[in-house]
Amino acid sequence: MDISYILNELGEERDQYFNAVAPPIIQSSNFTFKTVAGFREALTDEFEATLYSRGQNPTLNILRKKLAALDGAEDALVFGSGIAAITVPILALLKHGDHIVSIENPYSWTIKLFNNFLSKYGISTTFVDGTDTANIEQAIQPNTRLIYLESPNTFSYDLQDLTAVAAIAKQRNIITMIDNSYCTPLYQQPIKLGIDLVAQSATKYIGGHSDVVAGVLTGSKALIKRIFDHEFLNTGAALSPHSAWLLIRGLRTLPLRLERSFETTKKIITWLKQHPRVDQVLWPFDEEFAQRELAEQQMQGCGGLFSFTLKGASIEKIEAFCNSLKHVLMAVSWGGHESLIIPAVAGVSIKDYDKQNPRHQLIRMYVGLEEPDYLIKDLEQALKSAF
Ligand SMILES: *Cc1c(COP(=O)(O)O)cnc(C)c1O
Repeated sequence: MDISYILNELGEERDQYFNAVAPPIIQSSNFTFKTVAGFREALTDEFEATLYSRGQNPTLNILRKKLAALDGAEDALVFGSGIAAITVPILALLKHGDHIVSIENPYSWTIKLFNNFLSKYGISTTFVDGTDTANIEQAIQPNTRLIYLESPNTFSYDLQDLTAVAAIAKQRNIITMIDNSYCTPLYQQPIKLGIDLVAQSATKYIGGHSDVVAGVLTGSKALIKRIFDHEFLNTGAALSPHSAWLLIRGLRTLPLRLERSFETTKKIITWLKQHPRVDQVLWPFDEEFAQRELAEQQMQGCGGLFSFTLKGASIEKIEAFCNSLKHVLMAVSWGGHESLIIPAVAGVSIKDYDKQNPRHQLIRMYVGLEEPDYLIKDLEQALKSAF
């Protein structure tokens, strides 16, 4: 399906709402029935009915159609946050005694889900370095039900070979799931490579304006229905119609924003790499990146999120550099219009800081929609004032 068709037309039945170009926000909790027979039918199968907005809502359904089509998936569910889109399917598909093989250091709340939450219900997790598929294969146990991926990772940018992992999982009837927030469906379509479930934080590139928290899950209709019928309805993880409308609006410009973020990132990285203070840059499409070949094989483009380190940096120097930035904002999240920075040391208490730990040295930057020169000037003056 043509991307332009998906983003501008798919799911939009304009003759149902006065031929308005922008879809309506159906801000209604419930929907009425003319007969008991119709009411009974809806109550019997909520997946197919517009009954109550914790389940189906017409504004959300426009969004779901577009998101499923972008991923080449049969169906999509939209959640009140990205972490809900990761948590709910795992609660739905795994039970006490099951085992997960996960890549090491996934998104922070995903680690907490595995270590603190699922462990309480008897679901165990083994974390492995997923840059080598053999590590994933070796960690599989007879009770392994899920292989959890995040490619690229949003701090280390480690990749997994999605086609190879999917093949191993299929032989053993294990479900595969990936956090695809970094690439969005425009730059990576894991379902086409054999992955079963694709989760995304729509708070990032899909929303794109730092004004909505949301999550997406795509997969086969059978898996999506199974998740919807029980855990989705039971956890009440639904998104509001207004937030769904903001995501539809975000999707209209997703290709433009993503391309701009990608192009500006190339310029910023080229500049950083020639700067005498800059040591290492980590970004999947960088010439020196260890897994660049795999990145170019399975990704059609690269996001605007990367990390770098400074030569001779101490915690004080890293803090001085970040504190000196005037336009690049210090905040969590990414994928919006605004460029952001987050030094790893912000998440480390002063007493735990370890100069020898390479992860503590990382500074993560997200490149937004500003002019490249505007951002470079800001980085330049901040490096000057810190050193
Ligand atoms: C932000 C993020 C999430 C969580 O999404 P929320 O919308 O904040 O719940 C999950 N994975 C990655 C890679 C993220 O960056």
